[in-house]
Amino acid sequence: MHIDTITPTDPAWQAQALCAQTGADFFFPEPGSSVREAKRICAMCEMRPACLEYALANDERFGVWGGLSEKERLAIRRDGKTGEPTGRECG
Ligand code: SF4
Repeated sequence: MHIDTITPTDPAWQAQALCAQTGADFFFPEPGSSVREAKRICAMCEMRPACLEYALANDERFGVWGGLSEKERLAIRRDGKTGEPTGRECG
């Protein structure tokens, strides 16, 4: 019998995650609730790149990871767009 186990790529970044200090409520809000506060915290988090990479690699479907919402991560998986402003938009 063969059993596969899931091992995080490198969970060390999680020990320095700002969300570990604030609690999960902001990051997993009720459907339709704002993710603004979670994104504000993510913007200050030095672990953001590692967090986003982890979320994408592990197909995390719920909550805010790496400063991106579920819809924004889905857009990356679907067509590689981050959904974040690039500063190159006009108007
Ligand atoms: S970037 Fe990731 S690790 Fe950092 S606060 Fe946001 S959800 Fe937490």
